[in-house]
Amino acid sequence: MEKILENILQEKYGKNIREASDEQIYTALLILTKEKMQGIKRNEGKKKLYYISAEFLIGKLLSNNLINLGLFEETKEVLEKNGHDITEIEEIEMEPSLGNGGLGRLAACFLDSIATLGLNGDGVGLNYHDGLFLQTFKDNKQREEKNPWITDLSWLTKTGVSFSVPFKNFTLQSVMYDIDVPGYKKCCNRLHLFDIETIDEGIIKEGIDFDKKNIEKNLTLFLYPDDSDEAGQLLRIYQQYFMVSNAAQLILKEAEERGCDLYHLYDYVAVQINDTHPTMVIPELIRLLMEKGFNMDTAIDVVRKTCAYTNHTILAEALEKWPVSYLEQVVPHLLPIIRELDARVRRDYHDERVYIIDNMDRVHMAHIDIHFGYAVNGVAALHTEILKESELKPFYDIYPEKFNNKTNGITFRRWLLHCNQELSGYLEQLIGSGFKDDAQELEKLLAYKNDKVVLERLTEIKHHAKVHLKDYLKTTQNIEIDENSVFDIQIKRLHEYKRQQMNALYAIYKYKEIKKGNLPKRPITMIFGAKAAPAYTIAKDIIHLLLCLQQLIDRDPVVSKYMKLVMVENYNVTKAEKLIPACDISEQISLASKEASGTGNMKFMLNGAVTLGTEDGANVEIHELVGDENIYIFGKKSEEIIKLYEDGTYCSKDLYENDPLIQELVDFIISKELLLIGDPINLGRLYKEIVSKDWFMALLDVKEYIEKKEAVLSDYEDRTVWAQKALVNIAKAGYFSADRTIAEYNSDIWKLS
Ligand SMILES: *Cc1c(COP(=O)(O)O)cnc(C)c1O
Repeated sequence: MEKILENILQEKYGKNIREASDEQIYTALLILTKEKMQGIKRNEGKKKLYYISAEFLIGKLLSNNLINLGLFEETKEVLEKNGHDITEIEEIEMEPSLGNGGLGRLAACFLDSIATLGLNGDGVGLNYHDGLFLQTFKDNKQREEKNPWITDLSWLTKTGVSFSVPFKNFTLQSVMYDIDVPGYKKCCNRLHLFDIETIDEGIIKEGIDFDKKNIEKNLTLFLYPDDSDEAGQLLRIYQQYFMVSNAAQLILKEAEERGCDLYHLYDYVAVQINDTHPTMVIPELIRLLMEKGFNMDTAIDVVRKTCAYTNHTILAEALEKWPVSYLEQVVPHLLPIIRELDARVRRDYHDERVYIIDNMDRVHMAHIDIHFGYAVNGVAALHTEILKESELKPFYDIYPEKFNNKTNGITFRRWLLHCNQELSGYLEQLIGSGFKDDAQELEKLLAYKNDKVVLERLTEIKHHAKVHLKDYLKTTQNIEIDENSVFDIQIKRLHEYKRQQMNALYAIYKYKEIKKGNLPKRPITMIFGAKAAPAYTIAKDIIHLLLCLQQLIDRDPVVSKYMKLVMVENYNVTKAEKLIPACDISEQISLASKEASGTGNMKFMLNGAVTLGTEDGANVEIHELVGDENIYIFGKKSEEIIKLYEDGTYCSKDLYENDPLIQELVDFIISKELLLIGDPINLGRLYKEIVSKDWFMALLDVKEYIEKKEAVLSDYEDRTVWAQKALVNIAKAGYFSADRTIAEYNSDIWKLS
């Protein structure tokens, strides 16, 4: 490896390793790694999986690829010997911004595990040139900028594969780019990202503004372009159809190359539809098969046996419903098929809740997936139960056999071996390296639960991670944090159901307590990271509140000694990798029933943080695994919440008016202190929203939340008992390996050989 690296550097730059710059070394390692991956055998099994997803939040790839190729340690040593630090080389790489949050990160973890299990399966998505958006803060508000990441130093490889994608008024020619995805000590799979040659970043004006109607130039600029107007919604339909038409053409081409008689497509192909964005792959496959001479009945039957759907949310507003008229404007050739699918449903079931086209002429994408796919899965036990018993009950009554649960997972290569090398190394010393191949072996750690030396070492490793984070925040945002304080972290997309606003009310509570002279035993550092969708007004108002609180606390000479609030800019995978190992308290406080699974909760647990959370999503399973002693659970349960929504009886105003503490905390949002710093429009709107609506019921749980958090902080002071909690969390995290999740998808849904 040293020789090869040396050779590349000599040939390309005429330098040896010692003389080369970090950027030159990065380039050489990129070339070396790409070549290595080219050489790895691929699984060429008869049946192949296509995981289609609008998002793949893959993160930086260099170190992960080196780990999976078994080259990381050697590379690190070679570089060290020659005066270079691999963590500085990592800084050169740009993070591809191809995802928004958990759903996209899940797709990336799944690709890693599919390759690691040696399965024949590739990802299919789009090559967004400017990603989601880059978040910056100005005047205590979020600003959006473009986030270009494609340079000569990216992992993309242009392939010769290209398809024609027909739209109503024109046809676009695609180009397929590939990113290799090596498994851990295993075969190598691929992520296929489709693009067009005519894309033009020059049409982006201020921030992330561009002409939404110029499809030939804008199609793959951004992930989730603003869809608050008609042009934006049409653009999303263009993107979705472009993605799935390419996927469908690739699938049929490769199946035929493998000798498939298309009448038996399902013996050669499994398609996993990740959330509803790729739903049009169903009518598109039907259309393409009919072009090849299939009759409608047979085409539908074959496609139904090929496609499976993963549901990621029960939020009604997140389930896509496209107006028929919009589809007519973009993909009129799919409409006859969609209408026929709807007619078949109406013929068989006399229940308008399961129709594909509703009485407002909107196409319910999830309904296509459920009727015309062979499997429907939720992403955590509680979520799947809610789908079966309430959200999708009419469908469950028709197709009980299609429904199944696949609790999410994360790849331990990235979320332990790479992001927390000190912890990973220590675990290996204690329990051997078996846990790297079989995550369940982490349970061996339980044998050390009463070993003082081990507990102290775990505490020390956490402390080192906190110091690293301190240095990182100092360099990147010029923010000073205290490594001896408690690190309390909530990082995830900004959404009212995730209830960052409730955590903000805790910050207000703590601020006021300190003002009153009730000083905490130990300072607390509250860290947030979150992007808000550009058109999501209240989410942006919550960011504004957090940034104003950050400034208020910073400027207060007394309070700032005991608490600090930090909003990390542009939260992404790279930042998550620095934040998670340093965390003491993992905030997972969504309104029960609303967080389908969560995967951040799993990453934190694996890195020895203790969860403070509601009985929601995978928190429920974490709770079962670690037991009451090792997690802090509060808040109303999902059944109560579902009932409150059904009855429509929740009234935040009553809580506000009848509880002096709640009133005091909420009133602080529009206090003179905050209005001096913040914008009265944003703060006033947020105040009003919470008092008069509070759709996600922050005020319902806020008091219990505050009490529980105070208990957590007090328990933290018994450092030995806390370290035991951390140890149990690490030991029990094995269940959340994506390798387990993917093995289940394969045995229950895909059945790849
Ligand atoms: C894991 C991850 C998420 C998902 O976090 P949740 O807390 O499960 O919502 C979102 N963004 C990034 C960058 C992540 O790594």
